[in-house]
Amino acid sequence: MAFEGLTERLQNTMRKLRGKGKISENDLRETMREIRLALLEADVNFKVVKDFVKKVSDRASGSDVMEGLNPAQQIVKIVDEELTEMMGEQDVPLNKSERIPTIIMMVGLQGAGKTTTAGKLANRLKTDNNARPLMIAADVYRPAAVDQLVQVGEQIGVPVFERGTDIDPVEIVREGLAQAKADHNDYVLIDTAGRLQIDEQLMDELANIKELANPDEILLTVDAMTGQNAVATAEGFNDKLDVTGIVLTKLDGDTRGGAALSIRAVTGKPIKFVGEGEKMTDLDVFHPDRMASRILGMGDMLTLIEKTQRDVDEKHAQEMAQKMQENTFNFNDFLDQLEQIQKMGPLDQIMKMIPGMANNPALANVNMDPKDMEHLKAIVYSMTEQERIDSDVLNPSRKRRIAAGSGRPVQEVNRMVKQFNQMKKMMNQISNGNMGGMEQMMGA
Ligand code: GDP
Repeated sequence: MAFEGLTERLQNTMRKLRGKGKISENDLRETMREIRLALLEADVNFKVVKDFVKKVSDRASGSDVMEGLNPAQQIVKIVDEELTEMMGEQDVPLNKSERIPTIIMMVGLQGAGKTTTAGKLANRLKTDNNARPLMIAADVYRPAAVDQLVQVGEQIGVPVFERGTDIDPVEIVREGLAQAKADHNDYVLIDTAGRLQIDEQLMDELANIKELANPDEILLTVDAMTGQNAVATAEGFNDKLDVTGIVLTKLDGDTRGGAALSIRAVTGKPIKFVGEGEKMTDLDVFHPDRMASRILGMGDMLTLIEKTQRDVDEKHAQEMAQKMQENTFNFNDFLDQLEQIQKMGPLDQIMKMIPGMANNPALANVNMDPKDMEHLKAIVYSMTEQERIDSDVLNPSRKRRIAAGSGRPVQEVNRMVKQFNQMKKMMNQISNGNMGGMEQMMGA
């Protein structure tokens, strides 16, 4: 899997922060050192690493500290946001032209996966956008390239324009474009020649094709497995052709991830797609945010952090914490908590975002029906103020009255009071420094 090493190292680093109430300057320095080494080991460009570590460090030590999150969660959040930013922040869609057809020129070194990616992209346009693409075979140097594109075309049911290998590729493109016009194709993908490395002659040829075709998109395919060489290649192509986007291929075989992490920062050009296999369907839109979460390997922990932040009033959370500490948590607070949880979304969904919980068999038996929450609330509503504040007064006759008032069976009232008391006990333990279950929230 991609990013294995990096994910593991970052997780180890974050794990060391778990359970710390406060992060000292020393902790922060050590964390930053480990992050820097992890990124360098992942073959990320050294300058990109330097900038990254500085940003994270400034934010973590500065005032950019979010209430309601513990220190480890805060660092995870900052690292996640900065990783996302480093990879381009947002998805960048394929350019589309006002006129028909939209012209996409595929460029890249030999073996990077250009021909395969042209096929994958045509297939995607056909199936997802109902498009009618035409592919033009303009790689006349690699002996089998034309045949390969024709085969790919047959496989996905997309027409290929080819004129063999004996004529000038610029001429092939000219004729191919005329054909596309006549056939009303809405997309044209031009498969151009590659070389083992960048040379003048190749760049001149590509520049000539660019001038003739005036493409809406020049997509550079680079092989992620080549790490920093992929970054250098991207710089080279971009200098000469001013590419509009990058496709990172063979991410399925790239265990380090350096290219994915550096290429945007170094070239300023967005990664638009990633290839993660040899099949025609193995092409995905590149989402910087999802990639960052994947690198951090925190399951959907990050989504949970965001949800918590967005939905739970921070002051409120502090008040609750205070109550837990003072052991004065009562049924009114319980009601409040239920409402907060309901605001966050379906409880079973929230539980599944906690790493290790998604496939936890225990969860399968937990009935998280929103109706249950409503029942719990109804029971609390039927309590007197005194009963809400002091659960010890809840004798059998009071419980029977509450059951009648809420329309719930008395067994349910009993169960709920028992659970409440257990919860209170657990909270008490947590506030006395035994983090128990809470710590497991921080992943793996
Ligand atoms: P070109 O010379 O740039 O046109 O490269 P090709 O399209 O011929 O691809 C070279 C090799 O890389 C072929 O064996 C492809 O099947 C393989 N390839 C392309 N993209 C991917 C990918 O995303 N993952 C994997 N595992 N292999 C890929």
